[in-house]
Amino acid sequence: ESKSINVDEKIRTVCSYCGVGCNLEVSVVSGKVKSIQAPINAEVNEGHLCLKGRYAFSFYDHQDRIKTPLIRRNGVLEPTTWKEAYDFITEKLTAIIQKNGPDAVAGVSSSRCTNEENYLMQKFMRAAIGTNNIDCCARVCHGPTAFGMQKAFGTGAATNSIEDIKLTDCIMVIGSNPTNAHPVTGAKIKQFAMKGKTTIVIDPRKTEIAKYATYHLQLRPGTNVALLNMILYYIITEGYVSKGFIKHRTEGYEEFSEKIKGIDIAEMEKITGVDRNLVREAALVFDKAPNAMLFHGLGVTEHSQGSHAVMLIADLAMITGNIGRRGVGVNPLRGQNNVQGAADMGCQPNMGAGYMSAYDPEINKHYEAFYERKIPTSYGYKIPEMFDAALDGKLKAMWIMGEDVVHTDPNTNKVIAALESLELLVVQELFLSETTKHATVVLPGASFLEKTGTFTNGERRIQQVNAVVEVLDGAKTDGQILVDMMNKMGYYQAPYQPKAVLREISKIVPFFSGVTWEGLGINGKQWPVKEDGLGTKILHTEKFEGGIRGKFNFYDFKETNEIVKNGKDFPYILTTNRGLEHYNSGTMTRRTDNVKILTEDHLKINPIDAEKFSIKDEDLVCVMSARGKVDMRASVSDEVKPGILSTTFHFPDVLLNLITGNEHDCEAMCPEYKVVAVNIRKSKGD
Ligand code: SF4
Repeated sequence: ESKSINVDEKIRTVCSYCGVGCNLEVSVVSGKVKSIQAPINAEVNEGHLCLKGRYAFSFYDHQDRIKTPLIRRNGVLEPTTWKEAYDFITEKLTAIIQKNGPDAVAGVSSSRCTNEENYLMQKFMRAAIGTNNIDCCARVCHGPTAFGMQKAFGTGAATNSIEDIKLTDCIMVIGSNPTNAHPVTGAKIKQFAMKGKTTIVIDPRKTEIAKYATYHLQLRPGTNVALLNMILYYIITEGYVSKGFIKHRTEGYEEFSEKIKGIDIAEMEKITGVDRNLVREAALVFDKAPNAMLFHGLGVTEHSQGSHAVMLIADLAMITGNIGRRGVGVNPLRGQNNVQGAADMGCQPNMGAGYMSAYDPEINKHYEAFYERKIPTSYGYKIPEMFDAALDGKLKAMWIMGEDVVHTDPNTNKVIAALESLELLVVQELFLSETTKHATVVLPGASFLEKTGTFTNGERRIQQVNAVVEVLDGAKTDGQILVDMMNKMGYYQAPYQPKAVLREISKIVPFFSGVTWEGLGINGKQWPVKEDGLGTKILHTEKFEGGIRGKFNFYDFKETNEIVKNGKDFPYILTTNRGLEHYNSGTMTRRTDNVKILTEDHLKINPIDAEKFSIKDEDLVCVMSARGKVDMRASVSDEVKPGILSTTFHFPDVLLNLITGNEHDCEAMCPEYKVVAVNIRKSKGD
């Protein structure tokens, strides 16, 4: 594991942008990355890469990389040594824990980091610090998917594999823009649609995939639950429900179907803004397809009823019998490269590594046997609760690994106030960010090109990540930093060797029991990987996870508080999304040539609304919400309907989250980024 990297060679690793998990063949010359190609034998990407994975790598040795730890003195971050930084943090953390207890500390892990690093991060919080205050960015993206699918199927992960696109007869894409956000999978869906195969898109925006779709149900943002109930209504009242599957594999159908039959179709039509005849036609076509796949993205989850919509998608798969075989299933398009892995590794307050309850003393004995330390059963904060607890004075220290929460979490002013109220904020980062502006200590981490370990993609595929260049001088891998700190805090952790950590994970996490570094091979294995080392392409073939029956759940549409409270004063709905060229806060892609292609965020506005305000392309528009206002350049487009606005949030110059709000998914606390009540006017530059 300590082998140094040859200066001229081709090394295989995995992309660190989206959850598709494409394999990369990285050409290294004289210790520097020269180019990236798609390996011909990669099962995930089959010879393809997108603009981000293939070209957006030059951030790794960008001049902005932080090359030494920084400590804030007299309000200014100043360079320091690793020893001084570690000593300073240890002293501060120890004092905070002695005075306020371990629950005054919280950690945010990173979906950019490897499984091994995520596992160590939650172990650091639980075993070394003694708190369940550990969470990750799954909270702000697919938390509702994990919750909803777990409730319906017993497992919160994709049921099928991307290669099943070749075997299906019909695809329904809900709240996802895959050609931008998951381009390699998006291209496969687009090719499917271009062949004239039945493709149904449910999205408030005329996305690229919507243009190729057989049906585009262009609903008002925030009304997924109403639209899904309409689809379920038409299938149950006029279509063919899969009686055999329902009888043998599920429970609760009778009650569920009675409730669906009772919905007011005229009212739902009014709420969604989609013609009931179009919904009926799409529903019955989906129902008739011998095999149909469901894909969904953040346009489903980032709502106050995100979890409810996920459970209705599960209902749709079950009533049509589209579970447990090739070419079907519920397939969330996971956002970050390793967001599946971060959750699998226990970076959430209520569940440890392998999704076992963190609040049950009996179950905790399983973890304690490996951690050799008593671990807590007390309630742990989710990310939004961490900010509330900091503002209430209950949380005194936060440790954030590779996440720019000021840029990406909603209601920026509140996040800043929370971070400013802490006694200690430690941030592991590649670059100075909006969040490091409020840090007490910044520790320079390493990029994926400098790391060895594993990532798990959106189809549960655990893949080898191989370091292709040496760690930048002055920086350390995030796993190394965590191991150093655990030892400093008096909790012994063996020298950091990712393959040894993977061995530990395989003993603790039941669905990793057959995982070995060598056994993963070049194309990885999809979990569960049993003792025999074989992976699993499809879940729930004979029975649902844990031998349970699939559970039907009904939810009625409920207007979000954001509209109820603010809709009168702020009559437009803003919905946020991502462009092809950049990834989320753009920390990495803005430091590559991609920034020459997409240079700033634009507000998409329908021509009718633009005319009302005399707004033309590139005019500055002031967008106001109950939280604040931002100025953005306009892009007049029929991608959105009148009354709806849309924008990306890749550039910190705008800090769009100054205007997003505090509403979140009622179950998983995922912020409601997709519905923001706003008003607009031509900017006066004030
Ligand atoms: Fe990377 Fe996703 Fe693009 Fe593949 S599709 S190259 S994983 S960003």
